[in-house]
Formats: sequence, C-alpha cells, structure tokens
Amino acid sequence: MPTLSKTSSARLETCHPDIIAVCRELIKQYDFSVLEGHRGEKDQNKAYEEGSSHVRYPYSAHNKKPSLAVDIAPYPIDWGNLARFREMVFRFDAVAAVLRARGEIQSHFEYGAFWPNFKDYPHIEIKEK
Ligand SMILES: [Zn+2]
Repeated sequence: MPTLSKTSSARLETCHPDIIAVCRELIKQYDFSVLEGHRGEKDQNKAYEEGSSHVRYPYSAHNKKPSLAVDIAPYPIDWGNLARFREMVFRFDAVAAVLRARGEIQSHFEYGAFWPNFKDYPHIEIKEK
C-alpha cells in the first residue's frame, strides 16, 4: 500500500481538514505526491510571475489558512503524461464522493485539470458554495 512521504504529509497538514481526509484515503489506493498546500505571499507572487498561477497574493485558494487548495501529482511524476493526472483526479473525486456519503466531509471540489482556459493539472480546490 502506498504511503505519503514526510514531505508530502507536512505539506498536506497545511490544508483544510476535508482535503486532508480525501488525500489520506486516496493514498491507500493510489500513489501520489503533495506538491503544495498553503502558499505565502512571496511564493504566491513567484508562482504568478512564473505563470504557474493566474492570480497574485492573496487571491489564490492556496493563500487561505488552512489552505483551500492542494497540488498533487501521480508518483513517480511524469509531466508529459496528462492521462495519469486525469485518472488521479477521477479517483480523488470518487473518494470524495464516498466520504461525503459517509458524512465524513462536506466539501465539493473543483479541478484545475478541467478549467477551460488555464489548465492546472495538479490543482484541486474546495468549491465555494
Ligand atoms: Zn494549486
């Protein structure tokens, strides 16, 4: 059974409890790395300038405390294989549906992989109601 690395766990701990719950369940069936949870002002503006985020601080869901977004990638990471990212997202969504049905989480999620204009394959965030 895959497990989260220490680095992945530490990043995950900066996220909303519902994100943590889904990731801790997903890792039992699918190996992935947590790339980022909470992002402070300096890192957010750097991400914006490098083009990996489309907003400046404090407008990203990553800037909230706890973070309302997480970036995850299938392990081992292959940025050329987007089908694996999509599979990971479908699995995440399926696990989230199970946890909602059990009453363990309330959140619904949106996926950067499915954004129409700015595709952000590792990005998952809590949908605002
Ligand atoms: Zn992100």
